[in-house]
Amino acid sequence: VNSPSYSGKPREDKLLGGLLSEEFDEGSCLSRYQSSLYRKPSPYEPSEYLVSKLKSYEMLHKRCGPGTEAFKRATEQLGHDTRSCGECRYIVWVAVHGLGNRIVSLVSAFLYALLTERVLLLDQGTDMRHLFCEPFPGTSWLLPHDFPLMDQLDSSRCYGTMLKTDAINSATTGTIPSYLYLYLIHDYEDHDKMFFCERDQNLIRQVPWLVSNSNQYFVPSLWLIPSFQTELIKLFPQKDTVFHHLGRYLLHPTNQVWGLITRFYNAYLSRADETLGVQVRVFSNPDGYLEHVMNQILSCTQREKLLPELTTLESQVTNKSTSPKLKAVLVTSLYPEYSEKLRAMYWESPSSTGDMVQVYQPSQEMFQQTDEKLHDQKALAEMYLLSLTDKLVTSGLSTFGYVAQGLGGLKAWILYRPTNHTTPDPPCVRAVSMEPCFHRPPPINGCQAKTTVNSTRFVRRCEEWTTGIKLV
Ligand code: GDP
Repeated sequence: VNSPSYSGKPREDKLLGGLLSEEFDEGSCLSRYQSSLYRKPSPYEPSEYLVSKLKSYEMLHKRCGPGTEAFKRATEQLGHDTRSCGECRYIVWVAVHGLGNRIVSLVSAFLYALLTERVLLLDQGTDMRHLFCEPFPGTSWLLPHDFPLMDQLDSSRCYGTMLKTDAINSATTGTIPSYLYLYLIHDYEDHDKMFFCERDQNLIRQVPWLVSNSNQYFVPSLWLIPSFQTELIKLFPQKDTVFHHLGRYLLHPTNQVWGLITRFYNAYLSRADETLGVQVRVFSNPDGYLEHVMNQILSCTQREKLLPELTTLESQVTNKSTSPKLKAVLVTSLYPEYSEKLRAMYWESPSSTGDMVQVYQPSQEMFQQTDEKLHDQKALAEMYLLSLTDKLVTSGLSTFGYVAQGLGGLKAWILYRPTNHTTPDPPCVRAVSMEPCFHRPPPINGCQAKTTVNSTRFVRRCEEWTTGIKLV
C-alpha cells in the first residue's frame, strides 16, 4: 500500500470477513476499520459459525456488562455461596507480566468466555485503556474501579489451593462458591492444572465469578477438554487460526498507538518492494548485545534467503540484477546494536543481488518498563508493525513475537534459544503454524491423557520448546 485510500475499500475487507461489528463510531478507534489498509487480506476466512458466535457474545456482553441490572445483581451475589448460578457469569482477566504475555492470556480468557458463555471483563489494576479500544459494541469490557472483589483476593479462594485443602471437591455437588480465583501462571502446581480437566470444568462452569491470573496462551489445552472439542472444531475448522481471528477481533490499538504504527509504516515500510521483520529478544544473563545472537540472526536470514548475501564490489559489477528490489527490514529490540550492525553491513558492502537493504528500528528502550504508558504503547506498536511485514523472524519463546506472528497470519522463522553463549546450529526453524506456544501445559499423563493420545490432530510440540504444545 503506497498511500492508503480508505474510502475505496470493499466492505468485507474493512470488517475482516465479518469478524468486526459495524456498530462502532469510526473516529474513536481508527485502527478498527483502517487495519485492512495496512494488512494484506488474510487468506484465512473466519467460519460463519465463529462470526455468529461473536454476535451472540456481543449481545450477552450488552445484557450482562457493567452498568446493567444483571451486573448489579451478580455483584450483590458475591460472597454469598449459592446453589443457582444466576443469569450472567463472568471471567475477570488480570494482567500478568509483559505485554505479549498479557495479550496471549487475554485471548485465551476470551476463548474460554466464548466457550462457556461468560462475560470477559478486564481488571483495571493496570491500565489497558491507553493500549486498546473497547472491542464490544454498546458496552464496556472494563471492570468498574469500585468492584468489590479485587482488593480481597486471597489464595484461600484459589481453585488449586481449594482442591489441595479439600475445601472443594469436583466430584461432589453442593453449594457453589460465588467466585473462584484461577492461578494459571507458568509456575503453577498440579492442583491448579486441574482447571483443564473435564470433571473440574463441570464444577467451575457453575461458579458465577472467575478471576483469571495467567501469563500463558492456554488455548491448546482447551482443545483437549472433550466437552469443548466439538464446539471448537465448529468455530475453527482451521485449527491454527484461533489467535489470528480472535486477536484481530479483540485487539484494536487506540488512536495514539495507531499513530505510532501508521506514521512509522508510511515513512519507512510502505514504499519497499519487500519487508522483513526481525524481532530480537535476549533472555540470557547478561542480556543486551551478544555476538553469538548477531551471528545467529545473520546465519538464519542468509540461510533461509530472507536477506541477500554480501559481496565485493568487483563481483557485483559483473553480477548486477536488472531490477534490484528495495527491501525494508524492521528490527525490534530493546537494544540498538543489532540493527546498527545490520545497517552498516549493507552500507559498507554491496548485496550479491544488487537489492537495496534498508534497516529501521522504531525504539531502543534498553530494558523492560511494563506499565509505563509510552513504553507499553511502543511495544504494542512494534508487535503490530512486525505483523504487517511480509516475512518474519522471531526469537524463540517470546510471546512478543507470537503476537506479531498470529496477528499477521505469518509462519515465522523462529530463532532457537542459544545455550552456552553459542550460536545454535541450525540457527532457526520455520514455524509449523502461526499459533502461539503454550509453554507449560498440564502433564500429558494427567486427566487429559486420553485426549492427549489422540491429540496429534490438534496439537504438536512447539518448534523451539518441546515441553510446550501448540495448535497446528
Ligand atoms: P516476552 O517476555 O518476550 O514473552 O514478551 P513480553 O511482551 O511479555 O515482555 C517483554 C516486554 O519487554 C515487552 O512487553 C516490552 O515492554 C519490552 N520489550 C521487549 N522487547 C521489546 C522490543 O523489541 N521493543 C519494545 N518497544 N519493547 C520491548
